[in-house]
Amino acid sequence: MFEKVLIANRGEIALRIQRACREMGIKTVAVHSTADSEAMHVRLADEAVCVGPPSARDSYLNKAAIIAAATITNADAIHPGYGFLSENAEFAEIVADHGITFIGPTPHHISTMGDKVIAKKTAKESGLPVVPGSDGAVISGEAAIEAAERIGYPVLIKASAGGGGRGMKIAESPTQLQESFQMATTEAQAAFGNGEVYMEKYLACPRHIEIQVLGDKHGNIVHLGERDCSLQRKHQKVFEETPSPALNSAQRDEIGNVVCKAMSKIGYDNAGTVEFLYEDGKFYFIEMNTRLQVEHPITEMITGVDLVREQIRVSAGLELGFEQKDIAFEGCAMECRINAENSRTFTPSPGKITGYHAPGGRRVRVESGLFSGFSIPPHYDSLIAKLIVQGSTRQECLMRMRRALHEYVIEGIDTTIPLHTQILHEQSIINGDYDIRWLENYVAQLSTEKK
Ligand code: ADP
Repeated sequence: MFEKVLIANRGEIALRIQRACREMGIKTVAVHSTADSEAMHVRLADEAVCVGPPSARDSYLNKAAIIAAATITNADAIHPGYGFLSENAEFAEIVADHGITFIGPTPHHISTMGDKVIAKKTAKESGLPVVPGSDGAVISGEAAIEAAERIGYPVLIKASAGGGGRGMKIAESPTQLQESFQMATTEAQAAFGNGEVYMEKYLACPRHIEIQVLGDKHGNIVHLGERDCSLQRKHQKVFEETPSPALNSAQRDEIGNVVCKAMSKIGYDNAGTVEFLYEDGKFYFIEMNTRLQVEHPITEMITGVDLVREQIRVSAGLELGFEQKDIAFEGCAMECRINAENSRTFTPSPGKITGYHAPGGRRVRVESGLFSGFSIPPHYDSLIAKLIVQGSTRQECLMRMRRALHEYVIEGIDTTIPLHTQILHEQSIINGDYDIRWLENYVAQLSTEKK
């Protein structure tokens, strides 16, 4: 087993990984920018190295500085968390070249799944159902129109190198497609340094359902059920729950087995998430994330599996300690992502926390690096806390989340806690009856009411 792990991340996820390491008796090294020197992930680590100025490009994305930090501290592995360098195949390769273990899948799997066109082709060949679309990249306006005739309007233009819900365009007609195609190509080039785009059928009101997988280097692979992440705003997840209110256990077993077969076929190891849109009883693969997800704790709550611990174990070459038949799903879990944003306008609200009290009690989990007196820097993602609860039934889970939100005090900045409280009183959410458009429409309606 590793003696020392460097955690190449910040905030709640850096802390989450640090906790797993400490419970395994592994020493930790935190890295941080100058803006984060007072952060909790720095305070609680065994060692900390400053890797650059506030801008993420110069610090948390600074490969050379991070490798140097690992080398001087004698770390034998690097955990990248999510975001930043977690899906950077080149980084994973450089880490290995330095004799350090990258806690994650192989560079080959990262790059295969990182290119959406190749990912979709690989998924299809491995037996996963995919969204009908262009066969690979679309290289001209004419080719786009030809493909759209085949797929049927409306279509969605997506960037091959896209991510984070950015760079997608809907086209309802050939004229619109001509225009959008040019724009999408130019924008993809500017945003991702790769102008390649592809097309998919635009699904009107699907749910977003993803399957968590876990594999080792000995050919064992299991799934840990699904997460329903349909509540999204601007393609960003806001609230997640498991099990999905739309699936029964037979459907879960079925899709889970299909995913495990596909993962075995491509020889995947470590933690990963296969994302699908789900409409009218059918699954459509959209992408695979070859890393730990923000919403992984809800899966941990109902399965009892510590995903970070398992990632570390399998990266060290150990076998998974369990098989599919050993995994039981107990009750329900929900997660609210709490952002430093105004809950009506979504304007970012960084600044000093003047008062802080986290909820507690039975089956409540808070993942956050916040404390009273901490100043949230303006340079990074606005996610500041995740509130996760578990219940024996969905109703119990919902009531527990409402009471936990009620207890949560974060003073000095705006947060999205009021939005979560409000959503959890809506009939559609109480009934579990929502799709990926629900929240966007709801928020739009709130802002008209305000006017
Ligand atoms: P990214 O990597 O940028 O997050 P994804 O392919 O995962 O892109 O899609 C993000 C979100 O965009 C999905 O969760 C869904 O809300 C929406 N989306 C993606 N593909 C489609 C589609 N074919 N039809 C309708 N909505 C889609």
